[in-house]
Amino acid sequence: MNELDVTQARGRPAEPPADRRASLEEAFVRQGWTPSRALTGADADRLAEVAAELHPAFAGDVAALNRALVRHSAVPNLHGDPPVLAFHGPGADLVDAWAADAATALAMVIGVGQGVRLRSCEAGGCDLVFFDVTRNASRRFCGLSCQNRAKATAYRARRRA
Ligand SMILES: [Zn+2]
Repeated sequence: MNELDVTQARGRPAEPPADRRASLEEAFVRQGWTPSRALTGADADRLAEVAAELHPAFAGDVAALNRALVRHSAVPNLHGDPPVLAFHGPGADLVDAWAADAATALAMVIGVGQGVRLRSCEAGGCDLVFFDVTRNASRRFCGLSCQNRAKATAYRARRRA
């Protein structure tokens, strides 16, 4: 999801996945999120728009997140037997269902005072966002490659000084 709406990642221009639909289906499996039906190309395009819509929440834009919650009809609801708590209505379209669940998850993080853990990578040339699970919320980079790149940049800057 993260890489759907950024123009640069890990110091390189972000290449859109060759098959956006397939890479989204893989991401859903990794997240344990079960779509109500097979994903179409149009769904994948709309999900990329949702990713862009949710991105500002990682910069603390609560108003944008509230708009997304309303737009995608986020509502607590018990699904299935045994019941599982979800945040979209029983008849929600696949894209709205994912958007509502994702927006609610972000809202809960912010609502319990942990919004500082929704972070954007601080390395140059990278717009990826992540959830910081470190004890003291001190993670600055999306991953090792950005951390190493930022360290090398800082080292070269010190050498020049
Ligand atoms: Zn990064």
